[in-house]
Amino acid sequence: MTGKREKMQLWGISIDRVNRREAMAVFHQLMDEPGCSMIVTPNSEIVMAASKDEEMKALLDEADLTIPDGIGLVYASKILKQPLTERVTGIDLADAALAALAKEGKSVYFLGSKPDGGEGMSVAQMAARRKEAEYEGLVVSGTHDGYFSPEEEERIVREINDSGASLLLVALGSPKQEKFIRRHRGELNVKVAMGVGGSLDVWAGTLKRAPEFYRKHGLEWLYRLIQEPSRYKRMAVLPLFMIKVIVTKGRKKNGN
Ligand code: UDP
Repeated sequence: MTGKREKMQLWGISIDRVNRREAMAVFHQLMDEPGCSMIVTPNSEIVMAASKDEEMKALLDEADLTIPDGIGLVYASKILKQPLTERVTGIDLADAALAALAKEGKSVYFLGSKPDGGEGMSVAQMAARRKEAEYEGLVVSGTHDGYFSPEEEERIVREINDSGASLLLVALGSPKQEKFIRRHRGELNVKVAMGVGGSLDVWAGTLKRAPEFYRKHGLEWLYRLIQEPSRYKRMAVLPLFMIKVIVTKGRKKNGN
Protein backbone atom coordinates (compact mmCIF):
# COMPACT_ATOMS: atom_id res chain seq x y z
CA MET A 1 0.00 0.00 0.00
CA THR A 2 2.51 2.60 1.12
CA GLY A 3 5.80 3.22 -0.63
CA LYS A 4 8.86 1.03 -0.10
CA ARG A 5 10.33 1.13 3.37
CA GLU A 6 13.34 -0.65 4.80
CA LYS A 7 12.38 -3.81 6.66
CA MET A 8 14.01 -6.19 9.05
CA GLN A 9 13.31 -9.86 8.26
CA LEU A 10 12.94 -12.39 11.04
CA TRP A 11 11.72 -15.93 10.29
CA GLY A 12 9.67 -14.74 7.37
CA ILE A 13 8.18 -11.79 9.25
CA SER A 14 8.89 -8.21 8.12
CA ILE A 15 9.26 -5.42 10.63
CA ASP A 16 9.53 -1.81 9.51
CA ARG A 17 12.84 -0.16 10.33
CA VAL A 18 11.28 3.08 11.46
CA ASN A 19 11.88 5.38 14.38
CA ARG A 20 9.01 7.11 16.13
CA ARG A 21 9.04 10.15 13.84
CA GLU A 22 9.03 8.00 10.70
CA ALA A 23 6.25 5.83 12.12
CA MET A 24 4.14 8.96 12.62
CA ALA A 25 4.85 10.04 9.03
CA VAL A 26 3.54 6.66 7.83
CA PHE A 27 0.50 7.04 10.10
CA HIS A 28 -0.36 10.36 8.39
CA GLN A 29 0.10 8.75 4.99
CA LEU A 30 -2.22 5.87 5.94
CA MET A 31 -4.88 8.32 7.15
CA ASP A 32 -5.05 9.63 3.56
CA GLU A 33 -5.26 6.26 1.84
CA PRO A 34 -8.46 4.50 0.84
CA GLY A 35 -9.69 1.57 2.96
CA CYS A 36 -8.88 0.62 6.53
CA SER A 37 -5.14 0.35 7.14
CA MET A 38 -3.79 -1.79 9.93
CA ILE A 39 -0.88 -0.97 12.23
CA VAL A 40 0.62 -3.83 14.23
CA THR A 41 3.06 -3.58 17.11
CA PRO A 42 4.79 -6.93 17.55
CA ASN A 43 7.23 -7.77 20.31
CA SER A 44 9.34 -10.91 20.54
CA GLU A 45 6.46 -12.94 22.06
CA ILE A 46 4.28 -12.15 19.06
CA VAL A 47 7.01 -12.89 16.53
CA MET A 48 7.62 -16.25 18.23
CA ALA A 49 3.89 -17.00 18.20
CA ALA A 50 3.63 -16.03 14.53
CA SER A 51 6.35 -18.46 13.56
CA LYS A 52 3.89 -21.19 14.70
CA ASP A 53 0.51 -19.59 13.96
CA GLU A 54 -0.41 -19.10 10.29
CA GLU A 55 -3.18 -16.60 11.03
CA MET A 56 -0.82 -14.42 13.05
CA LYS A 57 1.80 -14.61 10.34
CA ALA A 58 -0.76 -13.66 7.70
CA LEU A 59 -1.94 -10.69 9.66
CA LEU A 60 1.60 -9.43 10.22
CA ASP A 61 2.14 -9.79 6.45
CA GLU A 62 -1.02 -7.86 5.66
CA ALA A 63 -0.29 -4.98 8.04
CA ASP A 64 0.48 -1.59 6.51
CA LEU A 65 2.91 -0.65 9.25
CA THR A 66 4.71 -3.06 11.60
CA ILE A 67 6.54 -1.28 14.39
CA PRO A 68 9.08 -2.96 16.68
CA ASP A 69 7.37 -2.74 20.07
CA GLY A 70 9.81 -4.77 22.10
CA ILE A 71 13.37 -4.41 23.23
CA GLY A 72 13.95 -8.09 22.31
CA LEU A 73 13.39 -7.22 18.65
CA VAL A 74 15.90 -4.37 18.85
CA TYR A 75 18.53 -6.70 20.36
CA ALA A 76 17.73 -9.37 17.76
CA SER A 77 18.09 -6.84 14.95
CA LYS A 78 21.56 -5.92 16.18
CA ILE A 79 22.63 -9.55 16.52
CA LEU A 80 21.37 -10.24 13.01
CA LYS A 81 23.05 -7.11 11.61
CA GLN A 82 19.82 -5.52 10.41
CA PRO A 83 19.80 -2.86 13.14
CA LEU A 84 16.54 -1.25 14.13
CA THR A 85 17.14 2.32 15.22
CA GLU A 86 14.93 2.22 18.29
CA ARG A 87 11.99 0.56 19.95
CA VAL A 88 8.75 2.27 18.93
CA THR A 89 6.04 1.41 21.41
CA GLY A 90 2.41 1.06 20.40
CA ILE A 91 1.33 3.23 23.33
CA ASP A 92 3.63 6.09 22.28
CA LEU A 93 2.56 5.89 18.66
CA ALA A 94 -1.14 5.75 19.62
CA ASP A 95 -0.63 8.72 21.94
CA ALA A 96 1.07 10.76 19.22
CA ALA A 97 -1.78 9.80 16.87
CA LEU A 98 -4.33 11.16 19.37
CA ALA A 99 -2.43 14.44 19.60
CA ALA A 100 -2.46 14.67 15.79
CA LEU A 101 -6.20 13.88 15.55
CA ALA A 102 -6.95 16.60 18.11
CA LYS A 103 -5.27 19.17 15.87
CA GLU A 104 -7.01 17.93 12.73
CA GLY A 105 -10.49 17.73 14.25
CA LYS A 106 -10.75 13.98 13.61
CA SER A 107 -12.12 11.47 16.08
CA VAL A 108 -11.14 8.14 17.58
CA TYR A 109 -13.04 5.10 18.93
CA PHE A 110 -11.73 3.12 21.92
CA LEU A 111 -12.66 -0.57 21.94
CA GLY A 112 -11.54 -2.91 24.71
CA SER A 113 -10.49 -3.33 28.35
CA LYS A 114 -12.64 -3.97 31.37
CA PRO A 115 -16.23 -2.79 31.86
CA ASP A 116 -15.34 -1.45 35.32
CA GLY A 117 -12.88 1.41 35.26
CA GLY A 118 -14.20 3.14 38.38
CA GLU A 119 -16.67 6.01 38.92
CA GLY A 120 -19.32 3.99 37.09
CA MET A 121 -17.35 4.12 33.85
CA SER A 122 -15.63 1.47 31.77
CA VAL A 123 -11.84 1.64 31.43
CA ALA A 124 -12.35 2.84 27.83
CA GLN A 125 -14.69 5.64 28.97
CA MET A 126 -12.29 6.69 31.71
CA ALA A 127 -9.37 6.68 29.23
CA ALA A 128 -11.49 8.76 26.83
CA ARG A 129 -12.30 11.30 29.51
CA ARG A 130 -8.65 11.66 30.47
CA LYS A 131 -7.34 11.88 26.92
CA GLU A 132 -9.98 14.46 25.91
CA ALA A 133 -8.86 16.53 28.89
CA GLU A 134 -5.20 16.14 27.91
CA TYR A 135 -5.56 17.00 24.20
CA GLU A 136 -7.74 20.00 23.57
CA GLY A 137 -10.02 19.36 20.61
CA LEU A 138 -9.75 15.56 20.79
CA VAL A 139 -13.06 13.78 20.27
CA VAL A 140 -13.46 10.18 21.37
CA SER A 141 -16.59 9.48 19.36
CA GLY A 142 -17.40 6.17 21.06
CA THR A 143 -16.21 3.45 23.41
CA HIS A 144 -17.03 -0.19 24.12
CA ASP A 145 -15.51 -2.56 26.66
CA GLY A 146 -13.61 -5.61 25.46
CA TYR A 147 -15.79 -8.35 26.89
CA PHE A 148 -18.34 -9.26 24.23
CA SER A 149 -19.51 -12.40 22.43
CA PRO A 150 -18.85 -13.17 18.75
CA GLU A 151 -22.58 -12.50 18.10
CA GLU A 152 -22.15 -8.92 19.29
CA GLU A 153 -19.30 -8.10 16.92
CA GLU A 154 -21.44 -6.97 13.97
CA ARG A 155 -23.32 -4.53 16.19
CA ILE A 156 -20.05 -3.17 17.59
CA VAL A 157 -18.62 -2.70 14.09
CA ARG A 158 -21.79 -0.78 13.13
CA GLU A 159 -21.39 1.40 16.23
CA ILE A 160 -17.79 2.16 15.33
CA ASN A 161 -18.80 3.09 11.76
CA ASP A 162 -21.75 5.19 12.93
CA SER A 163 -19.48 7.09 15.31
CA GLY A 164 -17.60 8.55 12.32
CA ALA A 165 -14.21 7.82 13.92
CA SER A 166 -11.12 7.97 11.67
CA LEU A 167 -8.99 5.91 14.04
CA LEU A 168 -9.88 2.73 15.93
CA LEU A 169 -7.79 1.65 18.90
CA VAL A 170 -8.43 -1.94 19.96
CA ALA A 171 -7.34 -3.10 23.42
CA LEU A 172 -8.18 -6.81 23.62
CA GLY A 173 -4.64 -8.11 24.15
CA SER A 174 -2.58 -9.84 21.49
CA PRO A 175 -3.41 -11.60 19.20
CA LYS A 176 -7.14 -11.15 19.90
CA GLN A 177 -7.08 -7.46 18.98
CA GLU A 178 -5.21 -7.99 15.70
CA LYS A 179 -7.49 -10.89 14.76
CA PHE A 180 -10.55 -8.69 15.45
CA ILE A 181 -9.20 -5.97 13.15
CA ARG A 182 -8.34 -8.46 10.43
CA ARG A 183 -11.80 -10.07 10.61
CA HIS A 184 -13.62 -6.76 10.23
CA ARG A 185 -11.21 -4.74 8.14
CA GLY A 186 -13.40 -4.97 5.06
CA GLU A 187 -16.47 -3.51 6.79
CA LEU A 188 -14.78 -0.88 8.96
CA ASN A 189 -15.04 2.75 7.81
CA VAL A 190 -12.13 3.97 9.95
CA LYS A 191 -8.93 4.96 8.12
CA VAL A 192 -6.56 3.24 10.52
CA ALA A 193 -7.03 0.48 13.10
CA MET A 194 -4.41 -0.50 15.62
CA GLY A 195 -4.15 -2.92 18.56
CA VAL A 196 -2.98 -1.19 21.74
CA GLY A 197 -2.82 -3.93 24.43
CA GLY A 198 -2.94 -2.40 27.89
CA SER A 199 -2.82 1.25 26.73
CA LEU A 200 -6.40 2.09 27.72
CA ASP A 201 -5.63 0.79 31.22
CA VAL A 202 -2.58 3.04 31.39
CA TRP A 203 -4.50 6.08 30.11
CA ALA A 204 -7.41 5.38 32.49
CA GLY A 205 -4.94 5.13 35.37
CA THR A 206 -5.82 1.51 36.23
CA LEU A 207 -2.35 0.23 35.20
CA LYS A 208 0.91 2.06 35.82
CA ARG A 209 3.40 2.43 33.02
CA ALA A 210 7.01 1.61 33.80
CA PRO A 211 8.96 4.55 35.23
CA GLU A 212 11.64 6.23 33.10
CA PHE A 213 14.46 4.13 34.61
CA TYR A 214 12.94 0.82 33.46
CA ARG A 215 12.08 2.21 30.01
CA LYS A 216 15.52 3.69 29.46
CA HIS A 217 17.25 0.44 30.27
CA GLY A 218 14.96 -1.78 28.24
CA LEU A 219 13.48 -3.25 31.43
CA GLU A 220 9.79 -2.44 30.90
CA TRP A 221 9.11 -6.20 30.82
CA LEU A 222 10.59 -6.53 34.34
CA TYR A 223 8.37 -3.76 35.67
CA ARG A 224 5.28 -5.39 34.14
CA LEU A 225 6.29 -8.71 35.63
CA ILE A 226 6.52 -7.11 39.08
CA GLN A 227 3.08 -5.53 38.61
CA GLU A 228 1.43 -8.61 37.12
CA PRO A 229 3.38 -11.71 38.28
CA SER A 230 0.91 -13.96 36.43
CA ARG A 231 2.61 -12.86 33.20
CA TYR A 232 5.68 -14.97 33.99
CA LYS A 233 4.45 -17.85 31.80
CA ARG A 234 4.21 -15.58 28.77
CA MET A 235 7.59 -14.08 29.50
CA ALA A 236 9.28 -17.45 29.65
CA VAL A 237 9.26 -17.21 25.87
CA LEU A 238 11.82 -14.35 25.89
CA PRO A 239 14.94 -16.44 26.58
CA LEU A 240 13.74 -18.94 23.94
CA PHE A 241 13.39 -16.06 21.52
CA MET A 242 16.99 -14.93 22.12
CA ILE A 243 18.27 -18.52 21.75
CA LYS A 244 16.40 -18.84 18.45
CA VAL A 245 17.92 -15.55 17.24
CA ILE A 246 21.43 -16.73 18.11
CA VAL A 247 20.82 -20.07 16.35
CA THR A 248 19.54 -18.17 13.30
CA LYS A 249 22.69 -16.06 13.29
CA GLY A 250 24.87 -19.18 13.55
CA ARG A 251 23.04 -20.75 10.60
CA LYS A 252 23.47 -17.59 8.53
CA LYS A 253 27.18 -17.52 9.26
CA ASN A 254 27.51 -21.13 8.17
CA GLY A 255 25.46 -20.42 5.07
CA ASN A 256 22.61 -22.81 6.04
N1 UDP B 1 -8.97 -7.59 27.26
C1 UDP B 1 -10.24 -7.41 26.74
N2 UDP B 1 -10.95 -8.49 26.37
C2 UDP B 1 -10.49 -9.75 26.50
C3 UDP B 1 -9.16 -9.93 27.00
C4 UDP B 1 -8.44 -8.82 27.37
O1 UDP B 1 -10.69 -6.28 26.61
O2 UDP B 1 -11.19 -10.69 26.13
C5 UDP B 1 -8.23 -6.39 27.66
C6 UDP B 1 -7.73 -6.38 29.08
O3 UDP B 1 -8.75 -5.90 29.94
C7 UDP B 1 -6.56 -5.43 28.97
C8 UDP B 1 -6.05 -5.70 27.55
O4 UDP B 1 -7.08 -6.33 26.87
O5 UDP B 1 -7.01 -4.10 29.05
C9 UDP B 1 -4.92 -6.71 27.51
O6 UDP B 1 -3.87 -6.15 27.71
P1 UDP B 1 -2.50 -6.92 27.85
O7 UDP B 1 -1.71 -6.08 28.74
O8 UDP B 1 -2.70 -8.36 28.20
O9 UDP B 1 -2.04 -6.78 26.37
P2 UDP B 1 -0.88 -7.49 25.64
O10 UDP B 1 0.33 -7.33 26.51
O11 UDP B 1 -1.35 -8.91 25.48
O12 UDP B 1 -0.84 -6.77 24.34
